Amino acid sequence: MDDQELLNFSSNDYLALANHLALKEAAMKAVRDFGAGTGASRLVCGSLALFHELEEALAEFKGTEAALTFSTGYATAIGTITALLGNGDIVVLDKLAHACIVDAARLSGAKLRVFRHNDLNDLESILKWAAKRQTGAQPPPRVLIATESVFSMDGDHAPLRNLVELKNRYGAWLMLDEAHATGVFGPNGSGRAQQEGVAAQIEIQMGTLGKALGAAGGYICGSRALIDLLINRARSFIFSTAPVPAAAAAAAAGVGLVRSTEGASRRERLWKQVPRLAAMFEPGPIQPSAQSPILPWIVGDELVAVEFAERLRANSIYVPAIRFPTVARGSARLRFTVTSEHSEQELDQLTAALSSIENQKSKIENPNAPARAS
Ligand SMILES: *Cc1c(COP(=O)(O)O)cnc(C)c1O
Repeated sequence: MDDQELLNFSSNDYLALANHLALKEAAMKAVRDFGAGTGASRLVCGSLALFHELEEALAEFKGTEAALTFSTGYATAIGTITALLGNGDIVVLDKLAHACIVDAARLSGAKLRVFRHNDLNDLESILKWAAKRQTGAQPPPRVLIATESVFSMDGDHAPLRNLVELKNRYGAWLMLDEAHATGVFGPNGSGRAQQEGVAAQIEIQMGTLGKALGAAGGYICGSRALIDLLINRARSFIFSTAPVPAAAAAAAAGVGLVRSTEGASRRERLWKQVPRLAAMFEPGPIQPSAQSPILPWIVGDELVAVEFAERLRANSIYVPAIRFPTVARGSARLRFTVTSEHSEQELDQLTAALSSIENQKSKIENPNAPARAS
């Protein structure tokens, strides 16, 4: 940036596949074979064989009957929730669910309820309320719970087994967004639902092709009936030009890589980096849980977060300050992520930058305080 070379600790490209030769070659071949664009929506004439191959690979990867891809993860949530729910239905979201899920829920016209982050008691009280509205209603409202398996800005986990148990008990559907888990967790990188042994019970498994899978696009994996419904009802799928061939081909190569032995060794390296990154913050103002490659340094004040980001940048580290509305007011943060391909030396560079900032911390937080006598 501005002629300064920076070391990136903010990307979601956890396995560094976006620049992997296999993905780049697949994308270039797709351009040569199929062109730069698709020229129409999937339902008109844009449904190239590439998309079907990608969807078959995703369904196999996730162990579901079928899969459907969209041009982005955002469009996936919008199309799916609005296809499944309407006026009179009920959608229940975790407080920290991604903006695309919130927007989709609002757009669906369903009654929107929010439970405290990962709070099963709060969720259960909402499900009890929903059950009361179901009795006697014709037709009874559908109830959909939507949450993330690894939370994008905090890096913590949803309690999947408990969530599945609850939604089964109350007859609700569960939509799980594995945007930050696919490629990173579970057998062959298939995600946390498979890792926890609950994938078969989750009606709607969502994710993006743009993070650990290294390309762009979004997907839903689930039953054949669900996918057929989405093909006919998901407006962001129907009324939008099919993704470029290069994206689909790169994503398919990304799925292949994630499942390969090379994918496994990248994950192994990644999971060695995670505790190293977490250790940089201890002892410190935050106690990162190190449950994922996402480590938020929650600073609180927005200006202080921006100042920290600038100091890091002066040390050749790129991590932007994340502020409202991406996160709640008063919880501005630096969201650090690590990838499998960061080198030892690069992690050392980050450690050095962080400790230099740590030393300046009180001055950044209280710029007008008199210098402390030492
Ligand atoms: C990034 C993200 C999305 C959106 O995916 P895109 O492919 O970037 O549109 C959806 N959900 C979560 C949790 C995300 O982090």
